[in-house]
Amino acid sequence: MKAVVFEKFGEAPTIQSVPDPKPAADGVVIKVEATGLCRSDWHGWMGHDDDITLPHVPGHELAGVVVAAGGRVTRWKAGDRVTVPFVGGCGHCFECTSGNHQVCEHQFQPGFTAWGSFAEYVAIDFADTNLVRLPDEMEFATAASLGCRFVTSFRAIVDQGRVKPGEWVAVHGCGGVGLSAIMIASAMGANVIAIDLTEAKLDFARKIGAVATINASTTSNVVKAVKQITNGGAHMSMDALGHPTTSFNSISNLRRRGRHVQVGLMLGEHAKASVPMSKIIAFELEILGSHGMQAFRYQAMMEMIRTGKLNPELLVGKKISLDEAPAALMAMGGFEGIGIGVVTKF
Ligand SMILES: [Zn+2]
Ligand SMILES: [Zn+2]
Repeated sequence: MKAVVFEKFGEAPTIQSVPDPKPAADGVVIKVEATGLCRSDWHGWMGHDDDITLPHVPGHELAGVVVAAGGRVTRWKAGDRVTVPFVGGCGHCFECTSGNHQVCEHQFQPGFTAWGSFAEYVAIDFADTNLVRLPDEMEFATAASLGCRFVTSFRAIVDQGRVKPGEWVAVHGCGGVGLSAIMIASAMGANVIAIDLTEAKLDFARKIGAVATINASTTSNVVKAVKQITNGGAHMSMDALGHPTTSFNSISNLRRRGRHVQVGLMLGEHAKASVPMSKIIAFELEILGSHGMQAFRYQAMMEMIRTGKLNPELLVGKKISLDEAPAALMAMGGFEGIGIGVVTKF
């Protein structure tokens, strides 16, 4: 099969012909119909992820059709249209059996712990636990855009952030994660403030539900601006970018007993960002992480998509071919364009 392969961290990936994958006993092989481009792929390529062994095929936001299933798989067969969350739970460890597959002790992550979906085919382990059936009407590109940033934002806003109608939510960074969070929080009935450096992204944020925006490139004190708009601070705030400044601002702009959810990755030189600890204590702030979402939680999200309350297709950005993926991947170190880039031609 054709795949995007890198042999060394930080060196340009190339298109290569590699052996087709075979399913594990509890796994499937999926013919990839769409796969999203994500900053996590860039981090992996840069060598920031210890799970990756070389040579490697990146890609973790995928949708496609099952072409083969291992002998122990009971729920899936060739022809099924599916997607997966980027963290696949083993289904057997303590975290999985208590419903927290997103922090499984033996997690399978395509594009990290195994070869990923920047290829014509991808093998997915623990299929019965992690595959999600696609509604007939959902396009593959939309489905692929869900698996990482959209589901992580759903869990961050709904399950971790516990956002309630009428609350103020601040979203720092309007890339794929941030825009997803704005759409989801708005659908939950919250009042959302979008914060970014570029006016075009803030315009788009308003279109999908933000009631206020702050341009951090022209606002000297973002924290003060959030507090003014919200009359005292956000109830819930999220760093969707993953940067010491946005993380610090997101915690600092909370009102008393507010919840900060960190979704943007903090890797490499940013792994040990500083936090305003005295304020965390005095205001009884909650600091939460959010890491993917369990496959069984897709059902609630899919119903909100089916009824038109969430429109993830609006967040699909540029559609490109696999041949264009190496250059696009290397460019992910900069800021993303509007929406989620998806490979749809293989
Ligand atoms: Zn597990
Ligand atoms: Zn991703």
